[in-house]
Amino acid sequence: MGCEHADAAGGKSAPQQFDENKLSEVKRVIAVLSGKGGVGKSLVTGAIATELARRGKKVGILDADITGPSIPRMFGMSGKHAGGIGNLLLPEISKHGVKVMSSNLLLANETDPVLWRGPVIAGAIRQFWSETSWGPLDYLLVDMPPGTGDVALTVFQSLPVDGLVIVTSPQDLVSMIVAKAVNMAEKMSVPVLGVVENMSYVTCPDCGKKIEVFGESKLDAVATEHGLDILGRLPIDPALAAASDAGTFEDVLPEGFLPEAVAAAEAVAPHAVEDSAE
Ligand code: ADP
Repeated sequence: MGCEHADAAGGKSAPQQFDENKLSEVKRVIAVLSGKGGVGKSLVTGAIATELARRGKKVGILDADITGPSIPRMFGMSGKHAGGIGNLLLPEISKHGVKVMSSNLLLANETDPVLWRGPVIAGAIRQFWSETSWGPLDYLLVDMPPGTGDVALTVFQSLPVDGLVIVTSPQDLVSMIVAKAVNMAEKMSVPVLGVVENMSYVTCPDCGKKIEVFGESKLDAVATEHGLDILGRLPIDPALAAASDAGTFEDVLPEGFLPEAVAAAEAVAPHAVEDSAE
């Protein structure tokens, strides 16, 4: 349905939320966003998903980072098992039961570049929601496209996002990125669960001292300014980077990782009944 301004806009109407399908029953959608790529958004998404799965929850990850997908590799997935049921795609299931749908699972080779523009990317995200059989899920984590631009906005407009986790790193323009993310979330009426600072420090292997390699964190002031909770500060951990590359992330992730972020996700109320598929 178009709005009253649709004619003036050349017949275009505002983007509508994508429909859920009959084989999906997703109770909560939690998006994980960062200002740019390489900040650790996928690592935080994967960690929250793994921890929720360890607590017996049914968890999926929709990898909306279509042009830079890194979730399948972290979970040791090749895409060779990604299949379909009728017209619907089936997510691949990790060793510990996390369901994943990602552009990388649909490519012939993991290294094939994804040279898609905005509308095609939006189409892929629609497929990952409307045309993927997720089954019953307590939590669907969405690894957002990097940045607070057009593609991220499409995800917010198209999926019923219940909460947003912002990931920053100390070398980011933290105050600007957080302000943009908070603005976007407000416009879309999505609650911000809080901020995770990644790559905050390294721990000296000899004396255990925390060294802030990128300088002192500005996160406290920014979080206070916007009234946001800090959901954790992660060190640079070479073991976790190596495990992400080797596909053993789930096995290597320490128990009780990012407890505040996981608790914030657990506290999100499920959608109203009418939001889920009949
Ligand atoms: P994004 O999703 O923001 O693009 P990723 O989560 O893919 O970022 O992280 C980018 C790279 O940095 C990956 O190789 C990942 O393993 C590594 N990385 C992320 N966070 C950490 C960390 N805390 N310690 C060590 N390596 C990390």
